[in-house]
Amino acid sequence: MMEKFEALKLLLEAPKKIIITTHHKPDADALGSSLAWCRFLNKKGHQAKVIAPSDYPRFLNWMTGNSDVLVFNDTTKQQATDLTNAADLIFCLDFNSLSRINDYGEIVKNARGIKIMIDHHLQPDDFADFQIWDTAAAATAILIFKLIKALQSQQLIDVCIAECLYAGIMTDTGSFKHPNTNQEVHEIVAQLMQIGINTSRIHKQIFDNNSEEKLKFLGFALSEKLVVLKQYHTAYFVINHKELERYNSQTGDTEGLVNYALSLEGIVMACLIIERSDAVKLSFRSKENFSVNQFARDNFEGGGHRNAAGGKSDLNLKDTETKFLEALPHYENELLINYKIEQTTC
Ligand code: 5GP
Ligand code: MN
Repeated sequence: MMEKFEALKLLLEAPKKIIITTHHKPDADALGSSLAWCRFLNKKGHQAKVIAPSDYPRFLNWMTGNSDVLVFNDTTKQQATDLTNAADLIFCLDFNSLSRINDYGEIVKNARGIKIMIDHHLQPDDFADFQIWDTAAAATAILIFKLIKALQSQQLIDVCIAECLYAGIMTDTGSFKHPNTNQEVHEIVAQLMQIGINTSRIHKQIFDNNSEEKLKFLGFALSEKLVVLKQYHTAYFVINHKELERYNSQTGDTEGLVNYALSLEGIVMACLIIERSDAVKLSFRSKENFSVNQFARDNFEGGGHRNAAGGKSDLNLKDTETKFLEALPHYENELLINYKIEQTTC
């Protein structure tokens, strides 16, 4: 990893035109690490800009630099194309396959700039010229922090950068409860706190910023839509377009719902199947060693981490549910083994 940091240091020696992009529907790690890296590069004298391949939740708008983000859509496509074609360097943060940035992927693929992937998801595609890739890193924000440190520029991490990095680390570790919460996470967070961030405020901005409709939707989903399949240690929701509309669901409003299904006693895998305008989207979570990365790859053109992954389906909602249900028997044994691991006390 150190040689990679050194190589990147050389690339950043002279001022460059830089584009930073991240995955579809950016979450706090995706946007936080992008904005932190962008602000850092601009402080270093580069011309850096973040292009998001889609919109993102309102509860991330507090991040410094948010108002300068170019959100890719039909209206901004030409501007995004021109900026991307002019870039010397294109950083791809928190994703590892161009399919994760939709139509913007083709533009990035054809651009002349050197592509650098900085990511912590499993099994990357080979699209970048250069990878800083570590699946042991709890968040891409951790990799950005380490990178800035390796560039001997830690003094440039101000409160704004530190807040963005903290938000990414906090959310990707499930508020420091997932198994990826290692010693390094706490050590880096301690360093961010030393810079003067208000961790409690960041938590509130992200988690205590719900609309009334979002909470009512959560109540509806939990009472009407949760399906529990004890035999497969699996629980899931299927949400259709009308139900999203009924609760005026906004980007980010369904985030976290799948975790409620996983919180059930005896459940090893949880899934949320949602009818979006372009395709049916699936979100997976798991406990112990059951790999939803593998499950999503095997069945739904997806991927992610061992315990959190996503995918999509071009089938309609009903047929996607059927496909999901028909896949389960192939994993019955593995689900059972992991249920037993979970039940084991030492
Ligand atoms: P979420 O369920 O929160 O949308 O995503 C969980 C994890 O899986 C995140 O790390 C996200 O980047 C990844 N992920 C979500 N959807 C997809 C997908 O369609 N393909 C791949 N490869 N990864 C995904
Ligand atoms: Mn991440």
